[in-house]
Amino acid sequence: RKSPIEILNKLKIESPFYSYSTGLENRYCEETKGRRIISPVDNRQIGEISFLSSEGYENVINTAEHAFLVWRKIPAPGRGNIVRQLGEELRKEKEALGTLISYEMGKSLQEGYGEVQEMIDICEFATGLSRQLYGLQIQSERPAHRLFEQWHPLGIVGVISAFNFPVAVWAWNTAIALVCGNVCIWKPSEKTPFSSIVCQEIFSRVLKSNNLPEGISSLIMGDLEIGKKMAEDSRISLISATGSTAMGRDVAQRVGKRLGKSILELGGNNAIILSEHADIEKALPALVFGAIGTAGQRCTSTRRLIVHENIYNKFLRQLKNAFEQIKIGDPLNEENHMGPLIDEDAVNNYYLTIELAKKQGAKIISGGKMVLVGDNCSQCYVAPTIIEADLNLEIMKTETFAPIVYIVKYKSIEEAIKLNNNVPQGLSSALFSLNLREVEEFLSFEGSDCGIANINIGTSGAEIGGAFGGEKETGGGRESGSDAWKSYMRRQTCTVNYGTDLPLAQGIKFNL
Ligand code: NAD
Repeated sequence: RKSPIEILNKLKIESPFYSYSTGLENRYCEETKGRRIISPVDNRQIGEISFLSSEGYENVINTAEHAFLVWRKIPAPGRGNIVRQLGEELRKEKEALGTLISYEMGKSLQEGYGEVQEMIDICEFATGLSRQLYGLQIQSERPAHRLFEQWHPLGIVGVISAFNFPVAVWAWNTAIALVCGNVCIWKPSEKTPFSSIVCQEIFSRVLKSNNLPEGISSLIMGDLEIGKKMAEDSRISLISATGSTAMGRDVAQRVGKRLGKSILELGGNNAIILSEHADIEKALPALVFGAIGTAGQRCTSTRRLIVHENIYNKFLRQLKNAFEQIKIGDPLNEENHMGPLIDEDAVNNYYLTIELAKKQGAKIISGGKMVLVGDNCSQCYVAPTIIEADLNLEIMKTETFAPIVYIVKYKSIEEAIKLNNNVPQGLSSALFSLNLREVEEFLSFEGSDCGIANINIGTSGAEIGGAFGGEKETGGGRESGSDAWKSYMRRQTCTVNYGTDLPLAQGIKFNL
């Protein structure tokens, strides 16, 4: 297999020792402070990253402001054509970029490729969307008047993204924001910078070959301090932030203080209800993939299983058996089901959660330990864990980014829905059942309170065509498909009087 350094070289990204700070020509800014990037796969150093200085930050903002003046003049279908080219370039680099994502973040190779595919898909979606940024025409109450609404770009869109989908979240935001006429500044997770550098380089190529200013898309390297700076910067019209609820709360306050716009995509705590009327054989793989896919580090990972009491014991045996067959190891080896957690902090968090669950009276059914993988010196591999929980287990309300799933019993569908909703987060939810009444109740206004509600399919993952996001502490934002584009534009309501009189609305008379 190719080493990540070879991949960077193939993409003409020369040095593993990066002083990479921005997406601009003068990217080699003076270093402020930096970070060594270690792969969780084998504990080897991929490279070094330095963070952007204040001067570099101003440079990025100024360049983006100038690029916006050029970009917004290009008709939307022309902008769509550029995003289409980005999709085509990504298709060419799918294997290399997918491999790097897998090595840098630790997700399976298939999931690394899947992430690039998601980027290609959203570019195609955005290209079509570029011809469909429709406004409404509304019937005016006044004679010889036309009332309509239209959509204009916002300006600079700041994208702050998390480590677990190091690049797809950028594409979800950027492809849509760009066809809407905005320019973008991306601050990726400081834990997965190399995957973002590759995306930036690929897009820079597209911009260069079209003689477009590279400030249309910039990359900023930094940690939460630069994220805070972006949130406070009123030159950034919209902040789209993906990450933990703690981060979202802080970003919301900073953006709110300046009355800016934000899209928040935060933590989830997703449940699957397994009814006695379910096709359990079909459900099992979805439940297991939901819990252990990406080592439980998806915002849509299945964290809670709510199982009907009549099938509980039999199902628990099947689940335990399935968990014990999970192959843990190098995610670049396609025979393995599950790779490592992102870093040792995540491993500590895994242990802490298990200890707390035990203290709160829960029972560990399987897992709960570290896994040594051959002669690999990474300490980030852990066993997928099942915890049998009491209905009131407090720790179950917290999102732990690890392959831990809680299992609880229920008696009635109403009780199951209540349990589903009884957490602060509201991202994804699912019911496995072939019973129409239960299904409709789960999907009704009295049912799941989440942004995503699935039937006979798990909580994990989503198609780009739908709007993606969740309620409550998940932040309320929507990204990707459907009409999520509207958050990236400003709506303008216009009235044109083409008559000879000037009638006021509501029949008001005003004579001078
Ligand atoms: P994190 O909150 O630690 O960091 C996410 C990003 O925010 C990083 O780029 C980080 O530098 C930045 N950041 C952190 N604090 C900030 C602050 N106060 N101001 C500005 N920027 C700040 O999250 P993580 O560990 O990288 O990712 C895991 C979390 O992301 C989980 O909670 C997961 O559920 C969530 N997530 C949500 C979605 C979604 O669509 N709802 C998608 C992916 C991940």
